Amino acid sequence: MAPPPALRDVSKTLTWTASILLLLCLSRFSIASAGDEGSGLFREVLRDEAVARLSELGKISDVDGYLERTFLSSASVKASNLIQSWMQDAGLRTWVDPMGNLHGRAETVNASVPALLIGSHLDTVIDAGNYDGSLGIISALSALKVMRINGKLGKLQRPVEVIAFSDEEGVRFQSTFLGSAAVAGVLPASSLQISDKSGVTVQDVLRENYFETTGDSLLQMKYDPRSVWGYIEVHIEQGPVLESLGLPLGVVKGIAGQTRLKVTVRGSQGHAGTVPMYMRRDPMAAAAELIVLLENLCKQPEGFLSYDSECKGFMDESILRSLVCTVGEISCWPSASNVIPGQVTFTVDLRAMDNTIREAVILELSSRIHQVCDRRSVSCMVEKKHAAEAVQCDSELSSHLKLAAASALERMPGGFQGDVPVLMSGAGHDAMAMSHLTKVGMLFVRCRGGVSHSPEEYVLDDDVWAAGQALLAFLEKHVI
Ligand SMILES: [Zn+2]
Repeated sequence: MAPPPALRDVSKTLTWTASILLLLCLSRFSIASAGDEGSGLFREVLRDEAVARLSELGKISDVDGYLERTFLSSASVKASNLIQSWMQDAGLRTWVDPMGNLHGRAETVNASVPALLIGSHLDTVIDAGNYDGSLGIISALSALKVMRINGKLGKLQRPVEVIAFSDEEGVRFQSTFLGSAAVAGVLPASSLQISDKSGVTVQDVLRENYFETTGDSLLQMKYDPRSVWGYIEVHIEQGPVLESLGLPLGVVKGIAGQTRLKVTVRGSQGHAGTVPMYMRRDPMAAAAELIVLLENLCKQPEGFLSYDSECKGFMDESILRSLVCTVGEISCWPSASNVIPGQVTFTVDLRAMDNTIREAVILELSSRIHQVCDRRSVSCMVEKKHAAEAVQCDSELSSHLKLAAASALERMPGGFQGDVPVLMSGAGHDAMAMSHLTKVGMLFVRCRGGVSHSPEEYVLDDDVWAAGQALLAFLEKHVI
């Protein structure tokens, strides 16, 4: 049945209005697209495609329900294959090295020119977010893809190589930078024998993936420092500073040094109902005391650092406050509610901008651990599982990155003005390992609430775009 005339008019008006709106939307879209190309903003590649790729990569996990990709796990291999196809799409020649790092490279006519390396990691923590590591790889590939599209990739004056490192988080083997340390030539052959909780070694995992990696292969993997111009890395900030400043990008001044310890406390295993309290040698109670002790040391380092007159330099407030300590993992044996444990192990993660402070805390902690353990008649063992010195980023590379970020932000819709901030990084990055090979620079990208190592990790689509823009501006200035 036909609608009454009055309603017909309304429906006609609505149809016309919808058509006009649709046309307006379409024309705005095409104007925006043309404008993007014309102004070099490349929104489709640097934002839309990059965001879609981050999402796609975030779905590749070893477990259902959350994101987890550890060193050379099946999800890591799958992610690597996908990134390899994106490298090829960006016009890069690709290969995988004996530690499972994926490389994509664009050459110049003169092969002797030192290359710019750009990288980040493809592994994740457990229950990770989509941006940590992945953003650095994808923004590099997006920027290079734009250069392929606009014909600039064929006119490089300096080779560019993107590396997706196989292990940065160190989740499976508790030893970070397996990938980047090998490229930098600082991964000892003994690392191949590190085993995971089930006794499987790094070398076993490599073999499962058809890599017959030996100490000799590691020696051959080391890049010749003369063949490298520098290393840059884009990474989410993993902290709240950029968000508090209202800015999408910042440049990194330096990266905190870090030490990871494993503390094992052994006591006397027994029946929870029959052993009197005064007769117990309880490693769980001892571990609890040690963990609180560690917290106190790191909250108030001036309490013991200031005793030494030579340590006056430590009293700089910002350097002292950069000291952070965490016990993130604890396990006990036999782990039953009615048994006094026989053994407790826990990890310690300790970071500071100043290497001397970090070493001083470790020394103080070790000494006090043994005092507590003696008093409680339990045995304690402290093993250093990982140590990385604090790294200062190269001032020249950093100022180039700062200029690139500033020009990108000015050109972005909304036109951010003001100085690009310079930040310190409390988190470790592949740039730390790469600093043993070459000068390094880093660009941080704002993340919501400063949250990272969590599925809540989030970067605005426009900030992904800004990161790609900044990298593109850097490349156009320094490799063409
Ligand atoms: Zn990371």
